[in-house]
Amino acid sequence: MLTQRQLFLRHLAQTSDAPLGIEAVRAEGSCIWDASGRRYIDLISGIGVSNVGHRHPEVCRAIHEQVDRYMHLMVYGEYIQYPQVQLAARLTQRLPPSLNQVYLTNSGTEAIEGALKLAKKYTGRGGLVSFRNAYHGSTQGALSIMGHDRYRQPFAPLIPGNRVIPYNHSDSLGYIDTSTAAVVVESVQGEAGYQTPCTAWFQALRARCTEVGALLICDEIQSGIGRTGDWFGFSKHHVVPDVVTLAKGLGGGLPIGAFVANEHHMSCLKEDPALGHITTFGGNPVCAAAACAVLDALEAEQLPARAAQLEPEIRQRLEHPSVLRITGRGFMLGVDLGSNARCRAVIADCLQNGVITDWFLFNEQSLRIAPPLNIPEELLFEACSIIRGCITRNTQGV
Ligand code: PMP
Repeated sequence: MLTQRQLFLRHLAQTSDAPLGIEAVRAEGSCIWDASGRRYIDLISGIGVSNVGHRHPEVCRAIHEQVDRYMHLMVYGEYIQYPQVQLAARLTQRLPPSLNQVYLTNSGTEAIEGALKLAKKYTGRGGLVSFRNAYHGSTQGALSIMGHDRYRQPFAPLIPGNRVIPYNHSDSLGYIDTSTAAVVVESVQGEAGYQTPCTAWFQALRARCTEVGALLICDEIQSGIGRTGDWFGFSKHHVVPDVVTLAKGLGGGLPIGAFVANEHHMSCLKEDPALGHITTFGGNPVCAAAACAVLDALEAEQLPARAAQLEPEIRQRLEHPSVLRITGRGFMLGVDLGSNARCRAVIADCLQNGVITDWFLFNEQSLRIAPPLNIPEELLFEACSIIRGCITRNTQGV
């Protein structure tokens, strides 16, 4: 009989030659257990998803309650479904007042697709601007604005009229002009290794979009829902985007995303033609109920502030002669080890020692740290000391 691992390799489509391959059987809080009973401390939260930890009791309760009421009833936008209504109300309460309408999706890339369609339809323009090393998803629209050629080239032709410019550089803002429908930006660049922009640049970007009438779409899919120490990463820069995209941490482990905009912008999706942007499962009521519980838990347990408070502790505990710098904000940190060989060795050693970290798509020398925002301090500090030990073992003489 084939093992689960053999079946995984044989029948599940593989995304690379090197899957992490943990045979997971249970997860709770900040830990995952494998089939041999081994415990791993999860320092990546399923890539920024388990912001309230695995199986948060209130999230589980909301899911069970909703399953007992109803699951799918009708395609998105037709029936009044309380979990969707409640989620939209909760999200808009936490966003700047102009961001007052929510379109629910199933995933991050679908939130981006919706935002791009909204911008093209509202402005009547075709140009899109994004940034070097940006990642916005794997569907063809999102892929068209990816800031890395190696990943786009094999899937050409993609959407024409996209321009990729350097992140956090004012000189290139001139490329944003009256042919630009939208500029898509991350407040912390996820796959670039958690790179943060300066406030002056973010504000200049906002001003340039306003000047030429382009919509500013802020992709908070990885950086949102408390991860950076703020509810949303852009708020640190005191700018208000025209559209915000969310997913990942929003559902507490269930698939849900959203793009949020002003009703004036959003209303262009309901006419000419009506039903021009629809989804069957977007905003699934069980996922929406889970998302409501996530937002309530973040608020009740003050988790964004906790991430901001503990960030300096993590930085201090990971200080090491082989660490060139630590990038990022809150619980979204990249540890720069100076080379891909070192980084790979440290990630593998951490895994051997029961700590899950990860690499970045467009930054091969940094290690990803993105723990659940409610990880107990003892576990977090234990994980930091294991990482330090692995860095010492794997960087001397390498
Ligand atoms: N934008 C950002 C910043 C992301 O990190 C991701 C996922 N890594 C996406 C978009 C795409 O989200 P999804 O995988 O849910 O489609």
